[in-house]
Amino acid sequence: MNSLDLSRQQLQGSQFLSERRVGNVIDGASRLPLSGRWLPVTDPATEVVVAEAPDSNAADVEVAVASAQRAFESAAWRGLRPADREKLLFKLSELIERHADELSALETLQSGKLQGIARMIDVGSGAEFVRYMAGWATKLEGQTLDNSIPIPGPQWVTYTRREPVGVVGAIVPWNFPLAIALWKVAPALAAGCTVVLKPSEDTPLTALRLAHLAIEAGIPEGVLNVVCGRGATAGAALIAHPGVRKLSFTGSTAVGKVVGHAAVDNMARFTLELGGKSPAIVMEDADPSHVAQGIAMGIFFHQGQVCTASSRLFVHRSLYRRVLDELAGIAQGMKIGSGFDAASQFGPLTSKVHFDRVTNYIESAKAEGATLVTGGGRALEAGCFVQPTIFADTTPHMRVVREEVFGPVLAAAPFDDIEEAIAAANDSPYGLAASLWTNNLSHANRIVPRLQAGMVWVNAHNVLDAGLPLGGMKQSGTGRDLGRAAVESFTEVKSVCMAV
Ligand code: NAD
Repeated sequence: MNSLDLSRQQLQGSQFLSERRVGNVIDGASRLPLSGRWLPVTDPATEVVVAEAPDSNAADVEVAVASAQRAFESAAWRGLRPADREKLLFKLSELIERHADELSALETLQSGKLQGIARMIDVGSGAEFVRYMAGWATKLEGQTLDNSIPIPGPQWVTYTRREPVGVVGAIVPWNFPLAIALWKVAPALAAGCTVVLKPSEDTPLTALRLAHLAIEAGIPEGVLNVVCGRGATAGAALIAHPGVRKLSFTGSTAVGKVVGHAAVDNMARFTLELGGKSPAIVMEDADPSHVAQGIAMGIFFHQGQVCTASSRLFVHRSLYRRVLDELAGIAQGMKIGSGFDAASQFGPLTSKVHFDRVTNYIESAKAEGATLVTGGGRALEAGCFVQPTIFADTTPHMRVVREEVFGPVLAAAPFDDIEEAIAAANDSPYGLAASLWTNNLSHANRIVPRLQAGMVWVNAHNVLDAGLPLGGMKQSGTGRDLGRAAVESFTEVKSVCMAV
């Protein structure tokens, strides 16, 4: 059975894809695009078009923002008791779990990802994250403070309150379409904001389904709107809209800068979660087998299409060969196939365009003289499958070391001295994540503060928690998703000064 048959089996009973064309969700209802244009949604395992979603234009975005503005101003959402917002978000998380089969099938169909990952991350962690953020609805607070106002007469009472920032424009990428959408939507709604979400043009289906589930949960119409389309049209209209008071963006650094400039033009608040080129440093006391398992997970999980992927590996020379041999063994043993096949451990890249991009990086590494340890080519005859690939003896100026590949391509190099390894790890425009592999606590505690990264793991890589803020230093962005920092970023602090 091919992936399309398997997905149909799993989508049985779902009305969602009964029509080939799936409209935007605006003001609580499905809307055909005013643009009159549609974009194909393609299954990357078969390269067959499975649906069409709106190719929205500025007029579609205008209608969606107007809907979110009305919902914000009517106080239908922000005026609810926080406990009622919390309850509705809980309901949404229950519906996500109840529709786990359908949502994970849609996720695999549009992105190629393994069913196990779709269930565990996009659906499972996504639903848990909604519950985590639901709890914040009742816990946002201001401060009262003793003041030193020198004006005699009245008694001065001073305090701060947190208020929802307003309409949020959320723009997300294709690698974890539902999970990252929820990273924006859940804290924004917990804080009392309303949202216009624009998913990636490659992966719009789960965002649209989410908006229908939000309506089913009882979240008022207009609170969560989803407008599909290309970045240069729908995305550009959303970031330029003066009615949007906060932009929350996850994607590439190049587009993130465009979003940041647009936000400043309107003085909208912004959070930018951008690209990465995350290093892993393996010290001489580490256990090579444990390291190989962890780094394989860091670079081959979801075919390396992970912003925090451990794409640069620096290993103490005493362990270098051993770690590379074990990593190569793991890479060669991975079962490559459709995301719908329960036996698959490694699926296709998400699109033909991305397949070509990753292949181009592999060729550049070969041309620049890196040693190919394993992989380095197409994995299956049909579909967007590339082999898990390891390059050894890479040098700092190679493209595969400097630029984000966003695929299953590891660049490894040995080191002799830890100072050399720290300098190499920090020698990157990016600063999203890093990992350190050592059993020496003293080394760990001394090195963690010196790594230029928003997230540092010790003896692990790619492990996230709803409460642990995620975000980058340097060109990896500004602001944080997840945790308290995320929900607070959807609020304004208002100071109140009262003469009584
Ligand atoms: P991308 O930047 O090409 O697109 C991201 C989103 O921005 C898409 O929805 C796209 O349509 C939209 N967009 C594109 N041009 C736009 C414009 N001019 N105006 C407004 N919106 C526009 O990124 P991608 O290829 O979808 O995703 C991969 C990138 O995302 C990688 O760089 C990866 O590191 C990054 N990422 C970062 C994190 C994180 O948490 N830091 C998480 C996941 C992915």
